[in-house]
Amino acid sequence: MIETISKFKEYCNSLTKYSRYKTREVHVGNIPLGGNNPIRIQSMTITDTMDTKATVEQTIRMVESGCDYVRITAPSKLEAQNLENIKKELRTLGYEVPLIADIHFTPNAAEIAARIVEKVRVNPGNYADRKKFEVIEYTDDKYDAEIERIRNKFSPLVKICKEYGTAMRIGTNHGSLSDRIMSRYGDTPLGMVESALEFVRICEDLNYYEIILSMKASNPQVMVQAYRLLAQKMKEEGMNYPLHIGVTEAGGGEDGRIKSAVGIGALLEDGLGDTIRVSLTEDPEYEAPVAIMLADRYKERENHNPIKSIEEPPCNPYEYEKRHSLETAGIGAGNVARVVADYSKRKIKDHKDLSDIGYFYNAETDKWNMSDMAPDLLYLGDQSLPFDIPNGLRAIYDYDFWLMPEYKNSGSPLYKTDEYLNNEIDKNILKFVSADLNSLSTEFINKIKEDNNLVLILTTENEHGMAEQRRAFFELINNEIDYPVIIKRSYKNVSLDQFRLFTSTDLGSLLIDGYGDGVWADVQNDFISEPGNNKYIKKLIKEESKEKIINRTLFGILQAARVRISKTEYIACPSCGRTLFDLQETTEMIRKRTEHLKGIKIAIMGCIVNGPGEMADADYGYVGSGVGKITLYREKNIVKRNIPAEDAVDALIQLIQEDGKWTETPVSVQ
Ligand code: SF4
Repeated sequence: MIETISKFKEYCNSLTKYSRYKTREVHVGNIPLGGNNPIRIQSMTITDTMDTKATVEQTIRMVESGCDYVRITAPSKLEAQNLENIKKELRTLGYEVPLIADIHFTPNAAEIAARIVEKVRVNPGNYADRKKFEVIEYTDDKYDAEIERIRNKFSPLVKICKEYGTAMRIGTNHGSLSDRIMSRYGDTPLGMVESALEFVRICEDLNYYEIILSMKASNPQVMVQAYRLLAQKMKEEGMNYPLHIGVTEAGGGEDGRIKSAVGIGALLEDGLGDTIRVSLTEDPEYEAPVAIMLADRYKERENHNPIKSIEEPPCNPYEYEKRHSLETAGIGAGNVARVVADYSKRKIKDHKDLSDIGYFYNAETDKWNMSDMAPDLLYLGDQSLPFDIPNGLRAIYDYDFWLMPEYKNSGSPLYKTDEYLNNEIDKNILKFVSADLNSLSTEFINKIKEDNNLVLILTTENEHGMAEQRRAFFELINNEIDYPVIIKRSYKNVSLDQFRLFTSTDLGSLLIDGYGDGVWADVQNDFISEPGNNKYIKKLIKEESKEKIINRTLFGILQAARVRISKTEYIACPSCGRTLFDLQETTEMIRKRTEHLKGIKIAIMGCIVNGPGEMADADYGYVGSGVGKITLYREKNIVKRNIPAEDAVDALIQLIQEDGKWTETPVSVQ
């Protein structure tokens, strides 16, 4: 069902002209956010809050890495009180950074912290409720009585914040919605929005407005829909609170960055977001540079080339719906999104060149093995392969090269728009046609309508490229063109980090809305180095080819957008002062042994207080339940309690084996 956006009302200023969505200014210590302020960057310490020295030192490292605010967990009154020592020490050392107390379950800790720090964060899912995963039927009267109970519990904090000039983030998490919200709204973006708005209405009744809102989820699709819906609902209720945006439990390394960029980037593209926190299972000083790189991209965005506006976009931005497409050569319709590997600038000498993208040749058997991240299409430009192409991989040549008789039967042509328009076309031969929004003229549309066998390669050169490509999808839908579309983006003069974040934003934003039957990215020159390039990045660039990095990134984006699952998914909390084991080390250990289990979602959570609630839709949970103790979950259910940490990874694997989900062979044989 296609709905028009006007039916739902708009959630941003424009889908075609970039501008930041204006929210009210909120004061967080000496650094305001919202209004005309730049996008603020923040992160959270992972030290024990009772360890003043370690927390102060980590906070300083975070400030130096670019954080405007630093959040610190306050799980009980003791930690809340110790925020005073931390703050005093920081001020003595000359650091004025506003501090944020992170509260879950403990109003008494919040009420202490609100008198000390510049901002408190509360989670409406657990501030006044304990989660029991119960479904309760509420009459309207019973529901109103519950809201009254929340009001009584929450009002004292609001009054303290008002008195002390403390700001507050009302931060909903998809994984920790209260049983009450779940029972009425379900596990939905609307439930997330209502969960926050209930608290906001209480604040407003008390004339308190120093509020920031967030709608985090580990699934970027859910998170983006929830923020959009929040922006739209706020408009409806005459509210304009700043948005803190982030993907929670994104994991670490490449996957964590890709997942964060898909969700955060999709919102930034539409001008939403006043402050960013990138949650990585890494030391927190690595988070700010990622957030800064994402935010900096929009500094000049308002000057982009104009994009044709649209009155009635044929989309529903609050629900996922895949654009209808016909199947052409295994692309489109119900097929998983396809991946194009671009070897047009790399000379292929022998079989080994394809091992970078997951095709491994066995000379003895004369067979190819392929990995789960092997692409489906190989763009060769104007070069030929010196060997037979593996089965299942389709070669694409530039049209004029393909015209040569020896190549005509070995692959498919890629036409530029004018080549397609100006030549006689064989309707029945599979062809790829490159086009951007500006090439979708009446003449072009009429000609492709007469074709039988075509895949569009959608390109853009606009600075606001995602919006232009989205606009092109609207044009195709309105003209009832249902050929499969591969979204292509080209980058120049980007570092490896920029490439990963930008391409995740650009392609991921479209995929999570159901646009695109495949992806293609190229980087026209070598990755540039930048001062922030750490040892790991330098090593990566040295050891891996550009094609390998691009291919892995594309599969990572498809996984993050949940349109093609090719590997295990890890939902790892970023850790904080509650964490009961070394999260980074443990995640790495689990990853090494399980990363070939395609499609399985494993959550690795630092504590039993929040972990189980935040695991979202994981298949298995590995949760710290005491010092040196781990509790294992199958979905939301405990299966093994308090296992010694040294046996816990084996126990997790045994559990997966018992469920019949274990495989030994990571590579499939063709
Ligand atoms: S789940 Fe992780 S980040 Fe969340 S409170 Fe527990 S230890 Fe901290």
